[in-house]
Amino acid sequence: MPAKIISGKQIAADIRLELKDEVSELRKNDIFPKLVVVLVGNNPASESYVKGKIRAAEEIGMESVLIRYADTISEDELLSKVNDLNKDESVHGILVQLPLPKQISEQRVIEAIAAEKDVDGFHPESVGRMVTGLETFLSCTPAGIMQLLKRSDVSLQGKHAVVVGRSNIVGKPISLLLLQADATVTICHSKTVDLASITKQADVLIAAVGRAEMITKDHVKPGAVVIDVGVNRTDAGLVGDVKFDEVSEIASAITPVPGGVGPMTITMLMANTIESAKRHAG
Ligand code: NDP
Repeated sequence: MPAKIISGKQIAADIRLELKDEVSELRKNDIFPKLVVVLVGNNPASESYVKGKIRAAEEIGMESVLIRYADTISEDELLSKVNDLNKDESVHGILVQLPLPKQISEQRVIEAIAAEKDVDGFHPESVGRMVTGLETFLSCTPAGIMQLLKRSDVSLQGKHAVVVGRSNIVGKPISLLLLQADATVTICHSKTVDLASITKQADVLIAAVGRAEMITKDHVKPGAVVIDVGVNRTDAGLVGDVKFDEVSEIASAITPVPGGVGPMTITMLMANTIESAKRHAG
């Protein structure tokens, strides 16, 4: 039986409706959640991500501002802007779109954002709180994956979750969130020996590699739930890290690309900004 399609597009739309209601309630109490997105340069992928974020904010009635800089901006100028936004009481979420040009240290910029406005969840304080299971802003892609699993009734307790990829923005944090949800977690990466022998043990397989269609049916146990985080631009269009056609024949559930994890990432950014506005208002 072909896999059930876990539609991130649909689940994100459901959550955005909930968030829209929440924003309209907050507005009645004079709380206006506001997100500021800073875009440096004009990398086409970044342009498209930023556009999606601003559009989503507008759609749910949240205030959003896009601040653009030429890619010649100095690190000091950018840090000084972040500092101004930190102090601006009307701003609840600050997101500096990555990647940044090479004259700017991404780490320094991430650390400059006030932790209480770090809606991307990349600040070391947010990461540290997440690791220890304290309340914090969860980084958006892993948080979105957890929502996809939850709202698709995928049980995690005692299940073997295998994550392929160990980046700071996806692989590592999703592994920890799965662990906190009582899965038994294995993390694979480019030095893993005999990848397929490990991924084939997964009840839940998360592919966050960035290599077009590298996870084939030979990597997947029949009946597994497969979450494809990859976004790869190829001549044939956008494809994931999973060979969808053949894996969907044997998996029990699978996310498509596009329309899977992507819309969830943006939705979690909105949720974090609303949460920040609520915390700010006490
Ligand atoms: P990174 O390039 O930072 O990390 C990729 C990871 O994959 C690394 O840990 C790397 O291992 C591992 N890897 C590379 N090749 C192999 C291999 N042959 N076998 C096993 N592991 C391998 O990527 P990101 O984590 O930032 O992103 C992963 C994918 O997810 C990308 O396609 C990206 O575009 C997409 N993405 C999608 C988002 C969404 O919202 N849908 C959000 C964020 C990312 P090592 O550490 O050893 O180098």
